Amino acid sequence: MTVRKGREFLAIPGPTTVPDEVLNAAHRPAVDIYEGDLVDVTQSCLADLRKVFRTEGRSYIYAANGHGAWEAALTNVLSRGDKVLVLASGLFGPAWGEMAKMLDIEVEHLGGDWRRAIDPDAVEARLRADREGEIKAVLVVQVDTASSIVNDISAIGQAIRNAGSGALFMVDAIASLATMPFEMDAWGIDVAVTGSQKGLMMPPGLSFVAAGERARSAHQTANLRTQYWDWTFRDGPVHYHKYCGTPPEHQLFAMRKALDLLLTEGLENAIERHRILAGAVHAAVRRWAEAGALEFNVAAPDDRARSVTTVLVNGGRDPESIRAYCREKCGVVIGVTIGDLDGRGFRIAHMGHVNAPMILGTLGVVETSLNALAIPHGRGGVQAAIDVLAESVSP
Ligand SMILES: *Cc1c(COP(=O)(O)O)cnc(C)c1O
Repeated sequence: MTVRKGREFLAIPGPTTVPDEVLNAAHRPAVDIYEGDLVDVTQSCLADLRKVFRTEGRSYIYAANGHGAWEAALTNVLSRGDKVLVLASGLFGPAWGEMAKMLDIEVEHLGGDWRRAIDPDAVEARLRADREGEIKAVLVVQVDTASSIVNDISAIGQAIRNAGSGALFMVDAIASLATMPFEMDAWGIDVAVTGSQKGLMMPPGLSFVAAGERARSAHQTANLRTQYWDWTFRDGPVHYHKYCGTPPEHQLFAMRKALDLLLTEGLENAIERHRILAGAVHAAVRRWAEAGALEFNVAAPDDRARSVTTVLVNGGRDPESIRAYCREKCGVVIGVTIGDLDGRGFRIAHMGHVNAPMILGTLGVVETSLNALAIPHGRGGVQAAIDVLAESVSP
């Protein structure tokens, strides 16, 4: 017997649920690429991206996934032989670093703990020791989607300034933008990257980069530039050049609608919604963890992301049985653990187009699986989540 009929619910950390309005917005005939509607959509999307990144800098739209945005960021501001400091707190910082290595950029890692956020003091100390100014950029991920660690981007920006370093501050906000505060200009971020398919509620396939003043000045001398990613080329007046070719039209119509949804809700309200829903998820996991078989991957509550939660399954139990039960029996797809945590647990996403029933439903199904599979857990995880919601959401 199963109880999975009906709409399957996807609770993996990207792609996330795409609202029906966004899907419908893409469902229209192709249009002219040189004039008309599409040109206005481009202009308004570029302007709204700046609002979401919280920057007065420039924004760029790429027909590429997040990895494309990483490459765009690196090639536009760096040169062969430059050295970068990669702050590692999971899978994605080092993966960005691997991409830099293939571009002939020298990579040094700092951190590397999958259970603890980057220590800004350690960043400051390392940059102070860089008296020759060899480190040209600091690369960090705000939320590492594999570990579910959130790094304190504001404090790391302050550490870079305290050290008197001239390094560019480059931040991956792919799994965090629109789910928690992100202040590109106020935090001294020079280059920010994000993707369409996480907090921004769009289909996968687009990614976005924002560049501040210092990044644009580094761009003038960067020798890794290639035409497809190049900011100068895209800055020109020709609409076709904004995408270095045919615009991804249907994706752009979907993007326009997703930004409308986000800005109508209000960025601050979306962030507060994520804070509350994350609190509910964390309350449930805290309760389940009381019996010892389950555990938060991230030790300190302050280091836990508001968009995804990585749960470890201890005692030689197979996390796949939990995922399979949720998916096959109940119609909820939760995420696998990846990288160093491969096979060690599961991930619950709470990012983007999510509301109370989606979160309570997901938690309820996970708790059902723990009961059905006789995995020891503290009882009442869903009740704990309900308590958080009832306290946080006033009548
Ligand atoms: C998903 C993700 C990426 C990679 O994005 P793709 O679209 O899969 O290329 C990079 N960084 C973080 C933090 C992510 O969550």
